[in-house]
Amino acid sequence: MKFGGTSVADGERISHVCNLIDKYLKQDNKVVVVVSALAGVTDELLRASNLAGKGEKEFIKKFVDELKQRHLNTCKKAVKEETVRRAVEETIKDTLLELENVLVGVAYLRELTPRIKDYILSFGERLSTPIVWGALKSMGVKTQWFTGKDAGIVTDSNFGSARPLMETTSHQVKSRLQKLLDEDVTPIVTGFIAADQNGVITTLGRGGSDCTASILGVALDVDEIWIWTDVDGIMTTDPKIEAKARVIPQISYAEAMEMAYFGAKMMHPGAIEIVMEKGIPIRVKNTFNPENPGTLITKEQKVESRSIVKAISLIRKAALITVEGAGMFGVPGVAAKIFSILGEKNINILMISQSSSEANISFVVPRDMLEDALNALEVKILGGNIAREIKAEDDICVIALVGAGMVGTPGVAARVFGAVGKEKINVRMIAQGSSELNISFVVKESDGEKAVKVLHKEFGLEK
Ligand code: ASP
Ligand code: MG
Repeated sequence: MKFGGTSVADGERISHVCNLIDKYLKQDNKVVVVVSALAGVTDELLRASNLAGKGEKEFIKKFVDELKQRHLNTCKKAVKEETVRRAVEETIKDTLLELENVLVGVAYLRELTPRIKDYILSFGERLSTPIVWGALKSMGVKTQWFTGKDAGIVTDSNFGSARPLMETTSHQVKSRLQKLLDEDVTPIVTGFIAADQNGVITTLGRGGSDCTASILGVALDVDEIWIWTDVDGIMTTDPKIEAKARVIPQISYAEAMEMAYFGAKMMHPGAIEIVMEKGIPIRVKNTFNPENPGTLITKEQKVESRSIVKAISLIRKAALITVEGAGMFGVPGVAAKIFSILGEKNINILMISQSSSEANISFVVPRDMLEDALNALEVKILGGNIAREIKAEDDICVIALVGAGMVGTPGVAARVFGAVGKEKINVRMIAQGSSELNISFVVKESDGEKAVKVLHKEFGLEK
């Protein structure tokens, strides 16, 4: 069971989460718990690391003090047993002393490498996990807490989004945690953080606690992985856009990954990838509504007869770039050049399409990357006479439809574009992955919500 930041945001919520864990333990389950940082803490650490990297020192004391207050308060509310509480308080204080020293060090050196950043980001989970441990222990549950590193998770040294080395990891995790489980001890592990082969702390990327749950699940060959969050499961669309959105009871790994890539921030796509081979089911559940069965993510693509399309997402704050020029016709390597230029600048491309006339290539990038992208392309593409013109539009959004039912079903695209056409919504660009699991297209930002609503209705996704 992995509990996200909002599920452990404060003392009351942690007590609630521990009651849940206890309930499932009493029903004769064995549980391994994975804990995220308290809501918002990772973002704060990121900001602090950037400030320190610029040489700022003045903010550090206050920053660390505030973190201390927040964690000590949370601990006070969640950990009932006094001796246990004292132990947790000591851990919090020691950990924060370490953080303060690190930030001061970085500020003097004015150097923030990805490796140091991972080290700083690791503090969120190192502070939250002992509190959950203390709360559960106070309830009389036999438990022990670990950092991801101590639990045996080993990754490559790709700081910022490290990948697990599953052979070693499985071996180590089994030898460290299985025995405890056999003795009815509930292990609690920090999400998000691990260590490379040299023992240096790494992180699994933002939202990476999901991956920790998957890694431990695969290593221990569990029956199910439960991702506890603050909504009832994966929804047909954002309920803030369409009030009739509903929870999807079952979805395949492939569909869930497609959705995760398109911004349905429900699960880390890497977490799904890790379990794919073993086929362990993942369940997304709501801490605030635990009776709801949530969404089950499994290997099989069950095609619900009522829906060819299972979910529709809207990706806001996107920008469209089009590179044009007859010089691109039949010249190999143009696309490669464009994308390697963007790759060098670390610009993430959300969507690509090229017309078969080859006279233009269009692609979508996050809006806040647009300027960087244009700067890089203008110098190297226009300057290099590869293309004649580069156009940009910054008021667009992407709509993505996902569903295994689209595979091999003719007429889906016709329905999609027929429905939006009837509303006089102009489609600027279209792409379909050859997996046929998704169709995505670009419209004006101001048409985005309307398009989602129209399609949600067209494919019968309402409650
Ligand atoms: N605390 C980390 C983050 O906010 C990991 C996680 O919550 O999954 O990215
Ligand atoms: Mg989080």
